Order: sequence, then C-alpha cells, then structure tokens
Amino acid sequence: MSDIDLALRERFGLPAFHPWQREAIDELLEGRQKVVVIAPTGGGKSLCYQLPAAVLEGTSIVISPLIALMEDQVRALTQRGVAATYLASTLGPEELKRREGEIFEDRYQLVYVAPERLESPWLVERLAGLQPPLLAIDEAHCISQWGHDFRPSYLRLGEVIERMQPPRVIACTATATPIVRREIQERLGLGSDRSAVILRGFSRPNLHLAVVESDSSTERRKLMLGALRSALGGPESPQGGAIVYAATRRNTEKLADVLAKEGWRVAAYHAGLSAPVREEVNRRFADRSLDVVVATNAFGMGIDRADIRTVVHAQAPGSVEAYYQEVGRAGRDGQPAHGLLLTSSGDLGLRRRLIGFSGGRDPGSVPDSEHVQQQWRLFLDLMRYVEAGSCRHDFILRYFGDEQETLGGCGHCDVCERLEDRGEEGAARCASEDEALTVRKALAGVARNQGRAGLTAVSEMLHGTDNERLRRLGLTDLTTHGLLKDHPKAWVLALLRRLITAGLVDLTTSEFPIPYLTPLGIATMKDEEPVRVLVPSPDAGRAKTAKKERRRSERALPDNVDPSLFERLRSTRLDIARAKGVPAYVICHDRTLLEIAAYKPTSIEALADIFGMGPARIENYGEPFLETVNAHAP
Ligand code: ADP
Ligand code: ZN
Repeated sequence: MSDIDLALRERFGLPAFHPWQREAIDELLEGRQKVVVIAPTGGGKSLCYQLPAAVLEGTSIVISPLIALMEDQVRALTQRGVAATYLASTLGPEELKRREGEIFEDRYQLVYVAPERLESPWLVERLAGLQPPLLAIDEAHCISQWGHDFRPSYLRLGEVIERMQPPRVIACTATATPIVRREIQERLGLGSDRSAVILRGFSRPNLHLAVVESDSSTERRKLMLGALRSALGGPESPQGGAIVYAATRRNTEKLADVLAKEGWRVAAYHAGLSAPVREEVNRRFADRSLDVVVATNAFGMGIDRADIRTVVHAQAPGSVEAYYQEVGRAGRDGQPAHGLLLTSSGDLGLRRRLIGFSGGRDPGSVPDSEHVQQQWRLFLDLMRYVEAGSCRHDFILRYFGDEQETLGGCGHCDVCERLEDRGEEGAARCASEDEALTVRKALAGVARNQGRAGLTAVSEMLHGTDNERLRRLGLTDLTTHGLLKDHPKAWVLALLRRLITAGLVDLTTSEFPIPYLTPLGIATMKDEEPVRVLVPSPDAGRAKTAKKERRRSERALPDNVDPSLFERLRSTRLDIARAKGVPAYVICHDRTLLEIAAYKPTSIEALADIFGMGPARIENYGEPFLETVNAHAP
C-alpha cells in the first residue's frame, strides 16, 4: 500500500478516495505539481491539500479566508496527529507571536493563514524562509473581481507565490464558471498549459430539476404550495425541510405569510433582519422546529441540514451558479429531492433593477458599468437555462465545464420527461422524427454557413429570406437556403439558440460571433447521435406546461408503498434494462415503481392507471412488472 493510501486510512480514517481526489493528489505530488480543483462545497477538496501536507517533509501553507473553518480543520487535524495551527488577526498579538515562534521552529506540518496576514511583508519573508513544500489556496474564487466573494487581499497572492516559489501549488474553489476559473489561473500564475484543472462532482443525480415560466402569480403560488406538499407531505407531519428563495426582502415576508396561513412552520430570512433573529432562524431550521425558510440569497452559509427535500425559487436568481449553489442545498443526504424554479417575465426587469441599483456588489456603491454588464450576462445565462430545450442537468454540467459527467439525457428533469412522454410512441427521450429532421436541417444550415455570417443571418437563410445582405454574404445560393421555410424567422432563431444551449452549436469568440457545429453537433447532424433537443413550441405554450407541471407536482407519492415489492420491481427493471442495453431510467421512473408497489396492479388495465405507464411501456415491459407483482406474496 502506498504512503498516501496508508495516510488516508490511518490519519484521515477514510476508506477510499473519490477518484478525482486521487487524481488531484497524484498531479500535485508526482505530476504537474500545479493544480486547480473545482468541486462543490462539501465535496472533499480540503483532503487534496491536507493529505499531501501530512506526507510531505516541511511546513505546508494554506491560505483560507474563513476563520471559523480554519479553527475546525486545525482541531480535526491535531486530533488525527497532524501538527497544524493557524494565523488570523482574531487571535490577538500575543498569541500570534507565540504561534509564529513555534512555526519558525518548524513545529508544524500545516499552517493556515488568513489572507490579511500576508499584507505583512515580514511574515511573507519568514514563511518563505521555511521553503514550504506546498502552498494551498482555499476559496480561490475570492481572487476574482467578478466573483461574489471578492477579497482585495487575495490579489497579493500572485506576489506571495513569486516570493515563496513553492514547488507545489493547489487552488481550490466551488465556483466553476469559466471566467472565474481563468482569472484564478491568470492571477496565480497557473496558466492552463502549466497546471492540471480537476473539475468534478457537480453531477447531482438525486436532484430532480424543473422550471416553470408563468406570468400568473396565482399559478406560481399554487405551484410553490404544490411543490412543498409533494416533497414534504402536508404541514401536519412533514418529512424533511424546504427552502423557498425569493429575490427581494419584501417578497420573502409576503411568501412566509402565505405559507404560515397554510399551516407550515415557516420563517423569513434576509439581510435586513438583525443578527440574533437570523441566528435564531438558522438554529430553528437546523433543529427542525421550522420546516420552511423563505429567504433571499443571504440564507445559505451555515445551513446545517441534510434532509432538505425541495428548494423552490419563487423568482429567478441572479446566475446559473447562484441557482446551482442554492438548489444544491436539497438532498445532501443523497435521497430524492426536487428543485423547482418559477419565473415570470417580470423577473427580467426586476433583475435589471437589482443589478443597476447595487452594481450587484456592495449595496450603495456606485455601479461600475463593466461589472453591471458582467452581472447581466450571468443573468442571461440563467435565462438560457430557463429556456433550455435539452436536459437541465446536462446544461448545468456543460456550463461548469464538467463534461465528463454529462448524462446524455438524465431522465430526472422536466425537459427529459417531456422528451420521454413523446418517446412513448417512438424512441425514448428523443425528439419525434419530424422534429429530429428539423433539427438536422438547422444543423446542416450552420455547417453550410462555413464562417460567413452570424446567428441571425443564418436563421434568415434557413427561413428563406431573400435580400441584398444575404445575397452579398452568399447565403441565398446555399442548398440550405429556405430549408426551414415552413417556420417563422423568429422561431428558427429560437431553435438555433436552443442548439447552442444544448451544446450542438457553439459561437466563435471573435468580435462578430459566428456559429459553428461542435463535435456533438456534427455527430447529431450525421444521425450518429439521437436528437436530444426540444424544439421551441410554435406558441410559447407556457400556460400548458405550467398546468402539466402542477398536475405532476400535485400528484403526491403514495404512502402505502410496499418496500420489499419496490425492491423486487427495481431488480426487474434492472434485468430489463440490462437485456436491452439501456440505463434503468429509460425503462421507467422510480415514481412508476413506487406507484406499482403501492397499488399492486394485476391487470394491463390497472397498470395503465400508473404514473408513466403509457401504451408503449405497457406493451414493452408490462408483462414482467405484472409478473413481479403477482409473484410477490401480499
Ligand atoms: P470542501 O472543502 O470541498 O467543501 P471538505 O473537504 O470540507 O469539503 O469535505 C467535506 C466532508 O467530506 C468532510 O466531512 C470529509 O471528511 C468528507 N470526505 C472527504 N473526502 C472523502 C472521501 N474520500 N470519502 C468519504 N468522505 C470524504
Ligand atoms: Zn434531464
């Protein structure tokens, strides 16, 4: 057994690495020695520097801005026999001096340092004198002026690295947007050619994601109530907790009132409340005397509850990243959980105002226009998520660049479910033949464009517009001109946008962005990959989806599920899936099995009443499921 495997077991008491942790540690110790690790909060990043520090000769240094966290980690490390300490201004001058004395006597394997401490050139010199074998930077996104946690003292870290010349550098963060990642690499001198970037763990297969756009506030309110009921059961005896996020303080209080009238044990939470009140809410939510908290994005940091069953956004949050962080608080225990994002056209104007008002940063500061622009672009990315015509999980994973984990249609989001509902007459989880053909035509149009024109002109070409500009660009002569003439121009443009959010088409980053096909786009055009995109509906079709989502969420899970039958049904499903060579979710949802395990249908007719059992499924898999029910002693 290698040193690091041994250290993992004996020092850290863990049976095995997550594969990406191993990868990061190997890169750090034996590979490129410069590593950027991006994984969600709670994913296990700290092990990636603690373990190397424990096995390396000398004093490793960790920069971390969270003093409470440092204290915790130092305590835990000390208990495990790894000599560790920390330096932060909260300690007071005497204690600092004492600790520094010990540090310079080489007494520690690991020293945590708050970034402000590095403003002392003296300390930097002394630490450099220790020739640390490893420098770790936790919460590395604090270096980004685009990020939400910008800390000016992080800007010095580039210089600190220059001065210390540590042979190994690792930067960790849960913030995965490409722009922040680039900034981390640039400012820390971890250029992409010189460092390994390990980005993993963003996939959350137990989380069901859905979005409903509705301009009716009554409708949105019903959806919110329905989501809470279906996730927690009634307010009388709820199973687990829920968070409702709203964009403004006033709204949190309004919605908390609505929920209180429905009988939920609920409180509002926002930055306008006094610290003791906020602490009280946190405490009561943690000890389960509250079931629901209605909050602004100020609620998050210390949520200590793994059994959050649903996170409902009553209004759109500010970015995909903020959404992912907030919705990711559901289902930390690994059990099924739901994220429902409700949005209306009013959200665009509201966000515009919120950004303009504060510059998205310190309330009251003069908004600087570049920052405003950036915030607005991040919000538009979120709107793309709302509109996405392809799997929502895949959208998020692609957004963060976590391509390894994309699921190719997860079966666990509203878009996949809609695709699948159609699939009952055809192939599972894919567009209908007609729609697939339309998508392939659009892809062919993008391919034929060959760098000539931007998105709008390509959509006009496909629509068959004939004007001077298109003629000059040579677009009217293409065989793909007018290929989608049966569709309005705006619809074709909307389709092209979907192809972009679905990862089939990308845009060049030049001043005039030109669309081109990604490898997945090429494969899809050639029919080597199925079309996993919902084409835009001819009429926005929004009210209809809202109703459908409501029906789905109002249909509560049955409470008389027979657990042993459920297990047998799952194994039947697995057998079918193996025989067909497809993933289990393609056969049917857990929800379908739960209903079968509760209602125990014994005939084809009874089976047809079960959620998700359409004619095609009954035809294909009805028999084995009925046999399982019949063979199961009541
Ligand atoms: P992060 O820094 O990414 O927010 P932490 O490093 O604090 O996350 O880890 C969160 C939790 O995960 C800790 O309780 C840690 O013990 C646990 N953990 C880390 N790695 C593993 C592993 N390989 N197996 C099991 N648990 C792990
Ligand atoms: Zn999906």
